[in-house]
Parts: sequence; C-alpha cells; structure tokens
Amino acid sequence: MLDAQISLSIDTALERLLRLAKPTHTDAKAGFENIPLHAALGRILAQDIISSIHVPPHDNSAMDGYAFHSSVLSGGKDGDGMTELAIVGKALAGKAWSGEAWSGEVGSKQCVQITTGAVMPKGCDTVVPSEFVTLHDTHIRFANKAVVAGDNRRKAGEDLMRGSVALASGSQITPAALGLIASLGMAQVPVRKRLRVAYFSTGDEVMSLGESLREGAIYDSNRFTVFGMLAQLGVDSVDLGVVPDNQDALEATFHKACDSADAIITSGGVSVGEADHTKTMMRQLGDVEFWRIAMRPGRPMAVGELNRADGSKAVLFGLPGNPVAVMVTFLALVRPALLQMMGAKAQALPLLQAKSSVAIRKKAGRTEYQRGIVSTNERGELVVQTTGNQGSGVLSSMVQANGLIVLSHEQNDVAVGDIVRVMMFDGAI
Ligand code: AMP
Ligand code: MG
Repeated sequence: MLDAQISLSIDTALERLLRLAKPTHTDAKAGFENIPLHAALGRILAQDIISSIHVPPHDNSAMDGYAFHSSVLSGGKDGDGMTELAIVGKALAGKAWSGEAWSGEVGSKQCVQITTGAVMPKGCDTVVPSEFVTLHDTHIRFANKAVVAGDNRRKAGEDLMRGSVALASGSQITPAALGLIASLGMAQVPVRKRLRVAYFSTGDEVMSLGESLREGAIYDSNRFTVFGMLAQLGVDSVDLGVVPDNQDALEATFHKACDSADAIITSGGVSVGEADHTKTMMRQLGDVEFWRIAMRPGRPMAVGELNRADGSKAVLFGLPGNPVAVMVTFLALVRPALLQMMGAKAQALPLLQAKSSVAIRKKAGRTEYQRGIVSTNERGELVVQTTGNQGSGVLSSMVQANGLIVLSHEQNDVAVGDIVRVMMFDGAI
C-alpha cells in the first residue's frame, strides 16, 4: 500500500496503471469474433490483415486522356517538341479494351483513349490528360512537356501489395480502415470482443434524472460524461446508476459490477479524510490503492483490482467526484489503460503545440490541465486561450474547450506568447 501522503507524478501513475490494465480477450477462440464490416467501426483488429490481392489489381489510368508508350517522347527533350499519335481505340473503366486497329498491343505512334480507372492497354505506360491534347480527327497532338514517362498511371499494388500487412493487429478500425478492408474484398473482419465497463456514481447528494431536485442535492452529470467517453472508445458500457453513501448498497453494486464487467469506473468518495463508505468497501472487496496524484484537477484516485467470486479480478478506476476532474483523469489515465485492455496499442491523445494568448499561473511540482480553446490566428499560427473559470466543478468549461492545455510537472508560470502543449479532444470526447 502506498503512503497516502506521497503524490505520484502523472507519468508514474500512468506507468502503474498500464501495468495493471492487462489486455483482455486475447484468446483466439474465446476472445475474437468475426463480424460484418459494417459493424466494425471503432473495433480493435484481432489479427493482422494480409492483403490477398494487389490493390489496385491492374495498372490503370489516373486521368481521362490518352494512353501511349513514353518512348515516343524521347525526341522532345528540348521541351518544345510536339507528339502526334493515332487513336486506335478506347479503354473505358470496367470494360475490356476495344479498338478497330487492335493488334494486341499499342504501337509506338499510337494511343488509346482512356478513362480514369480503366486498365492500361498493353504497350502503354503513360497517360496524357485530355486537357493537354488537341484532337485532329483520328489523331491527337500535344506538347512533349505536358507529360513525363509514367505520368498518370497507377501501378498495380501501389496501394497494397499482395502478401503485405494491410492493417496490423491492434489497430482501431477507423472509417479509412473500413474502406481499406473493403478494397480487399473482405466482408467480415476478425476483431477482439468488446471490453465491458461498468460504471456508477456515488454520493448521497447525487440524484438521477427524472427525480425532482431535493434540497442540497445535484443531478448526476458524471455518469453521462463517463458514458459518452466510453462510447467514443468503443467499449460496451453498463450503467449501474447512482449509489448512496451506504455500505450495503455499495457492496451490492460492486458485486454486480464485478460480475458484469472487465473494468469498473466509479466517481466520488475517494478523497482523503472523507467520511464515506466507498473507500472502505473498495478495500474490503479487493486489492486497491488510494493514490494522490500530483495533478490538477483530479488529485485523489483509487486504483486496483476487485475480486470476483470465481477468483478472477476486475480492474477498478475510482475517480474523484468533481465533474471536470472525472473527465481529466479519464482522458489522461483511464483512457490509455482501457485502450490497452481492449488490445489496442495504448494511444495518448495527440498533443499540439500552440502559442498561449493568455498568462497562466502555474506552480512547479504538479501537472495541470487547463481547459483551452485552440484556434488559428491571422498569421496562421495555432494559438490557445483558457476558458476562464477553471474550477473542477465547472463542466461548462469542458463544453467550451476543444482541448486541455497540459502544463507539465516542472513547468512554472506561462507568459503570453509562450508555447504550450494541448491535448486535443477530437476523437475522444
Ligand atoms: P466527492 O469526491 O465524492 O467528495 O465529490 C466531490 C464533488 O463532486 C462534490 O461537490 C460532489 O457533490 C461532486 N460530485 C460527486 N459526484 C458527482 C456526480 N455524479 N455528478 C456531479 N457532481 C458530483
Ligand atoms: Mg461524495
């Protein structure tokens, strides 16, 4: 057990979390499933996808124009020469090449009219686009400098070579990856089974939607931000509601959570010196450490494993109660850990460098996350401002922001014009 007085740096906390968050569903029989491509967005690829074909399958034209062999250009190196070619046929995308003078191969002074995506006729390696050509009845003329050898020809396999790894195991399937898999003709894709994450809120003052607000109470917002962030990650989430600060209710909910999920996220009830039962219950049901992390917002956090009746364990992330702290600890710590459990390469969110348009007070010795709005100034530079009130309960600041300004452990005050790092939300919330 960690000394409760020592604050972990964010890097140490993340390192420990990643050690705890072991990949689940790693067994090919029990942990993988083949699903239709349409259902695969956001899922984690369970095996490498090896290209069974060349994509594209044939050399083909990248433009509408005329295909010919570049050897006829050799006389025009001075750049002023003209080339004249006889049109001997037409190649349309998806259709067989046709031409009256077709002899199996296009001759040196000949060309074939071609459309984008049509297979390059035998004997051709270059396409001159229509707009560079003047048409003279059965011939075309164009300036040699309009093209160089190989222009506007796409080579077979230039996207994917047969036998190459098209997508690596552990990739999260993006819209582009869906298209790439489809280009291989695959209608089904092997993915890891979804990670299941149960979550609930704690607190006697926290009320569910649909109830009228009692004196001294607040509505539960954490369950909704957590739900949204889990949905963006592509996990199956199980909503276990709001649990009052009551030992029996907490115990029953923790048991339910353990039985229904690989990981559990709670919010509230983990502060030092708090007279509530969440911590007691966590300690009793598993091997849980209470961390103080040198970060703001989000200092207290409970992390560990809870025991199931069958001897297996579920990973617990006990987040603080304040709504902004919940989101910040999720993004900085829980998200990479869950990605690892999902079998994805743990990916930190992209960090941009932007010029701060405001001064920010910061003490060395903890990592601070300020809500930031990144934009482009008139000189095309990325600039970032803060959203004003940075209180850890001010959820509207998270709505206004498009990223978190990450002020690292050692950083001191930021002056106007200093470069700061920003963790962008795009794709995460
Ligand atoms: P706690 O960590 O339980 O001491 O809670 C810290 C602060 O966050 C308190 O002001 C709580 O009222 C608030 N809080 C806790 N849970 C929630 C929740 N689910 N939704 C909104 N605010 C919450
Ligand atoms: Mg509480």
